[in-house]
Amino acid sequence: MSDYFLKMNRLPESEILSMMRKFAEEKKVPIINDEGLVFLLFLVKTRKIKRILEIGTAIGFSAINMASLDDKIIVETIERDQEMYSIAKTNITNAKMADRIKVIFGDALEIDDEQLSRNYDLIFIDAAKAQYIKFFEKYETMLNNEGIIFTDNLLFHGLVGTDEEIKSKNLRSLVSKISDFNDWLKNNEKYESVFFNIGDGIAVSTRRKNG
Ligand code: SAH
Ligand code: MG
Repeated sequence: MSDYFLKMNRLPESEILSMMRKFAEEKKVPIINDEGLVFLLFLVKTRKIKRILEIGTAIGFSAINMASLDDKIIVETIERDQEMYSIAKTNITNAKMADRIKVIFGDALEIDDEQLSRNYDLIFIDAAKAQYIKFFEKYETMLNNEGIIFTDNLLFHGLVGTDEEIKSKNLRSLVSKISDFNDWLKNNEKYESVFFNIGDGIAVSTRRKNG
């Protein structure tokens, strides 16, 4: 998105959010970029989303942004890194949102489901990119009928879907896993997905009527 259009779109602003942006930049924490955030918040607003599950909290940036839109929004968010978890908890307390954003410490593929309230209007998948199929399969059962699943980083800095040669073996494997997820999602019979060239590549999936 052009800088001009980014300025046209108003994102939530607060002292805490600007501190978090700075922190993320300095410490290279991969928070959602502004273009992706504009789109995510647009969906939350226009679909009147109230119950959100996020997989991958990091410092709580996207969670606080979503919860800023409406007092009735609740977010449950899962983080497996101890340091990120603590930072997120502090940020959420400082933003006075501890009653609406619950951070769950643990690996999203291993945690006890009892900690989750289920019935989500939105599931935001934003954790380890190699595990996207597993996250999707585990959590889609907790999605409301009209709910949406939002997956981020499907272009992975433009590396997915190009013939560009990738030298690092780990990176090559990650890119190939994301590309497998994209194909899997495209061919999924239960969900209809739209792929957007927004931010770092986003898909929005909804349950098919006969799915
Ligand atoms: N959603 C955040 C950014 C998340 S970055 C934002 O946009 O502001 C991805 C985070 O997912 C990292 O902090 C990483 O520790 C966490 N993560 C990766 N794999 C995970 C897993 N299996 N379970 C829980 N958290 C995971
Ligand atoms: Mg992301």
